[in-house]
Amino acid sequence: MLDAIDTSDLDGALQRAAPPIRAILARTLDGVELGEPDAITLFETTGDDLVAVLAAANEARRAAKGEHVTFVVNRNINFTNVCYMGCRFCNFAKRMDNPEAELLAHDEVARRAVEAWERGGTEVCIQGGLHPKIAGTHYAEIVRAIKAVLPDMHIHAFSPFEIWYGASKSRRPYTDFLTELKEAGLGSVPGTAAEILDERVRQILTQDKLSADQWVEIIRAVHAVGLPSTATIMYGHVDGPAHWAAHIGLIRSIQKETGGFTEFVPLGFIHDDSPLYRDVPNVRPGPTRDEHLKMHAVARLMLKGWVDNIQASWVKLGPELAQFMLHCGANDFGGTLMNETISRAAGAKWGQEVTAREMVGIIRGAGRMPVQRSTLYKTIAFYDAIDPDDIAPLVPRQKPSVARELAREFMRG
Ligand code: SF4
Repeated sequence: MLDAIDTSDLDGALQRAAPPIRAILARTLDGVELGEPDAITLFETTGDDLVAVLAAANEARRAAKGEHVTFVVNRNINFTNVCYMGCRFCNFAKRMDNPEAELLAHDEVARRAVEAWERGGTEVCIQGGLHPKIAGTHYAEIVRAIKAVLPDMHIHAFSPFEIWYGASKSRRPYTDFLTELKEAGLGSVPGTAAEILDERVRQILTQDKLSADQWVEIIRAVHAVGLPSTATIMYGHVDGPAHWAAHIGLIRSIQKETGGFTEFVPLGFIHDDSPLYRDVPNVRPGPTRDEHLKMHAVARLMLKGWVDNIQASWVKLGPELAQFMLHCGANDFGGTLMNETISRAAGAKWGQEVTAREMVGIIRGAGRMPVQRSTLYKTIAFYDAIDPDDIAPLVPRQKPSVARELAREFMRG
């Protein structure tokens, strides 16, 4: 079915599109900023108009990022699944008395980071539930524990919700709390917990535990202390085109002020096993295929010149659909992850791990050049002239035994 969509022939696609759609796309490709009303129109396209939107996004991607598709070798570490916030889309959180509840000790988090390092990882992505027993200092302690054994590992950690929690528990302003994390070695922040930055939608999703204004305030504070972050959207539940256009418009306006976003990551709602879908009437079972396509494409067009990395999340989309997003505006394939649990807990079929080798194969399958990047989009390795079969561990890593010894020493204190 996806084979029937050709996004490579921009001129032909524009010719077949209705004149108003053609005019919006031509203006946008000419450098006129795509406003929210026009973005809503593009989100509502079907048929030939939809193909023209995808082709225009594909062209905008080509102009901004060329044929390279980036990915990062990383590991997700969910340090606790205990959380009482009760976000309805979440099936990851457990109560403390649940037999599956866990809170990893700092040395276990560090040990997993060392394991990732030994496998060529350049980043650990650390997030967790808002465990009622942890102190506000817990977050900086995790960062220090990892940095003590792996000074060169990039730590991408703690959503704005966790920052809100840690700062509240410490009774400190966000900037103080974040400055301590940065000094401890935090490298960047995942811009998750954004969901949809609309109060009415958030009321349904999270019962307004973290408001849109708070998310924006925290992200501004993150950028103000010099920490970059990603930006995300979770779509396909009780939301629609007007919410999506306003959300991306808000991300764009923050970026104009701070320049702190590294990428935009659309995350489709995974409905299986989620209380939101099970218990709340009129919740959609995640985005349709065409909504996935349009989200990546319209994000590319709206964020043109401001956030030029649009990520296709294979965890949410599955490798095949994620691969197709590379023809609809996406230029980044995210991380290899090495055991991700949050999406799987909500019923995603994917989410464990795509190895670096598989990542290279998938990107090549889309006719693009794979490039391993750092978290902050520095090139680590080009794979344009290397056969996938020759790809041994991507970054030969030193001294696993030394790293282990350091970890042991750290754990001994
Ligand atoms: S999404 Fe995060 S904050 Fe919300 S319930 Fe789940 S773990 Fe807790």
